[in-house]
Amino acid sequence: MTAPPTYAVLITAAGRGTRMGGDEPKQWRDLAGRTVLARSIDAFGGFDRIVVVVHPDDMARAVREIGGRVTLVAGADTRAGSVRAGLEVLDGSGITHVLIHDGARPLVPAAVIEHVVAALQSGAPAAAPALPVTDALWTGVDGVVTGVQPRDGLFRAQTPQGFALDVILAAHRAATAGAADDVELAAGAGVPVTITPGDERNLKLTVAGDFGRAERILADLEGANDMDVRLGNGYDVHALGPGDHVWLCGVRIDHNAGLIGHSDADVGMHALTDAIYGALAAGDIGRHFPPSDPQWKGAASEIFLRHAAELARSRGFRLANADVTLVCEQPKIGPHAAAMQDRLAAIMDVAPDRVSVKATTSERLGFTGRSEGIAALATATLIGGR
Ligand code: MG
Repeated sequence: MTAPPTYAVLITAAGRGTRMGGDEPKQWRDLAGRTVLARSIDAFGGFDRIVVVVHPDDMARAVREIGGRVTLVAGADTRAGSVRAGLEVLDGSGITHVLIHDGARPLVPAAVIEHVVAALQSGAPAAAPALPVTDALWTGVDGVVTGVQPRDGLFRAQTPQGFALDVILAAHRAATAGAADDVELAAGAGVPVTITPGDERNLKLTVAGDFGRAERILADLEGANDMDVRLGNGYDVHALGPGDHVWLCGVRIDHNAGLIGHSDADVGMHALTDAIYGALAAGDIGRHFPPSDPQWKGAASEIFLRHAAELARSRGFRLANADVTLVCEQPKIGPHAAAMQDRLAAIMDVAPDRVSVKATTSERLGFTGRSEGIAALATATLIGGR
């Protein structure tokens, strides 16, 4: 019986980042409030064992800032030497697999890591993420194209690169010259390396301009997590009196009575309008359209609903759904429900399948049961985000 695989992460952060310019190595620079290296470590939050290889000059800072979370190892003069130093720490620790990650790739998505682990889990001795090359490739001399390079079968390598620990350790111990990365070393030693899906956001911070791009990607990722979901409810009642029709949810229905109110008394539309104002914490219809103001006498209630929907949009929200329940014995709502949904959706400028209109009686009980009035309840969900 074999023991279950155990995974460690080895993060390389010993480089000096000379291509970046600036006073400090890129992995120690601030990226939206945290160092690049701290963000790279955060990406592997689900792993118990994380080894970080740092430059000897950075060791004191590393102990102070990340020493509590990871095992720190002093790096060597070359990248390969630094990786090997980290691998040797894991030898004999019971770890069976290692993911080697570049500390300058702070935005690696969880899915990229999961694909590498899944490939190792299914028995691959080595697996690493990459993206197919889609741009044309040229050779050039002195600013002039000298040839075109076929791009078929070419990939852009990313990290983390995952290995069975014994396999990559053996490859490093046997290596004589420096390799560009650990995949090159493993492949050179005859180890098959599975290509797993990479991600454009898994950017390697290399030149100063990459920081601006990384900040935009971060804002994007965090914006997706910052989805702002608002739920509002509304309730309204209007009395029935003399008349020959009612307006309900924007549809005129012939009836043996009419609804009494300052406007057209569309009780369903008023409840829905208040639900949207409620989701926005923006008061109710009375606050935006005071009944004391004569200009709203007899007004079509779609003015109110349109205002609420536009207020939501202006604050960065869209209507995810609305649900209106009318409470009355008469008129029968069922035959008109589809027309009501279409009308409300058109006023709010959303698809009709986001709007529901249904009805219930109150079993002849109470004011609605005695047909003294009609009541309506509504809920509305608004979704916002950056
Ligand atoms: Mg009302």
